[in-house]
Amino acid sequence: MTHQHAPRDLQAFIAGLPKAELHVHHVGSASPRIVSELAARHPGSKVPCDPEALAEYFTFTDFAHFIEVYLSVVDLIRTPEDVRLLTYEVARDMARQQVRYAELTITPFSSTRRGIDARAFMDAIEDARKAAEKEFGTVLRWCFDIPGEAGAEAADETLRLATDDRLRPEGLVSFGLGGPEIGVPRPQFKPHFDRAIAAGLHSVPHAGETTGPQTVWDALTELGAERIGHGTSSAEDPKLLAHLAEHRIPLEVCPTSNIATRAVADLDEHPIRKFAEAGVLVTVNSDDPPMFGTDLNTEYAVAARLLGLDERGVAELAKNAVHASFLDEAGKARIAAEIDAYTERRLAS
Ligand SMILES: [Zn+2]
Repeated sequence: MTHQHAPRDLQAFIAGLPKAELHVHHVGSASPRIVSELAARHPGSKVPCDPEALAEYFTFTDFAHFIEVYLSVVDLIRTPEDVRLLTYEVARDMARQQVRYAELTITPFSSTRRGIDARAFMDAIEDARKAAEKEFGTVLRWCFDIPGEAGAEAADETLRLATDDRLRPEGLVSFGLGGPEIGVPRPQFKPHFDRAIAAGLHSVPHAGETTGPQTVWDALTELGAERIGHGTSSAEDPKLLAHLAEHRIPLEVCPTSNIATRAVADLDEHPIRKFAEAGVLVTVNSDDPPMFGTDLNTEYAVAARLLGLDERGVAELAKNAVHASFLDEAGKARIAAEIDAYTERRLAS
């Protein structure tokens, strides 16, 4: 497969490199190991518990199959304890890849609509966040996103969960918008983003993944986007690329996801190089890693190949994510220094 092409030394460098991840989904991060634990808690679900059968189940034939598997995993998140287990175990998988900081996109509406109490949901993710930071050294923050296809009710409820002082979790830093773009114009959610921003949250909608550059413009002008989830089609609009570069609006690029969802036909045609050449701040992310058969380290290897980067270039890419994050300045400086120290140590040996 194409993503195996990074030289072995570079892959080892990436594996040990301290990293930050800015675009990764909560349920979409459930690895076969985590899904088998969840399935064991709920016998009778159609998801197999046996790891081998599960690996087979996770081998997607097409995008419809991906959606089917995704929804069957959603169906396994039935209690606050399931939410806690998923969140904590996702952090364990991140720590193994030297992820020091992650902004995890959570769709709380998917859980509250299924009857999980909102207060118990918030307590579960916060409990997992604190335990993960203490035990794995991975700092988690949350992005609550509107599932765009679920319409106004979902948007209202997501906003309530993100801004109600009695519910809003301490780790929440941003407000997002996911789901299909086709038939779900971004501007309809302007009132929700206005209120989320007024409540102190950062704006990070998905845009330009499956529709053209106008969607990215809408995300910027209507939703106050500070970073763009994917933004793939920005490559078609030189004015937009110049705007993103000038205003230092980072793109959250997820190469393998773009291939899996057919947002990009072929990895070698991925616009990541075009973004970098236009001076846009590029960050590399994994989106729904186990579901797309990838992980963050693999995405870095893919990006290194597409951008022609050596170790120092990869370290700079990792620092882009740190700088584009919503971590405080002291936290950013700490991880950036750790990346530098690691790079010097590796290149000296
Ligand atoms: Zn995404």
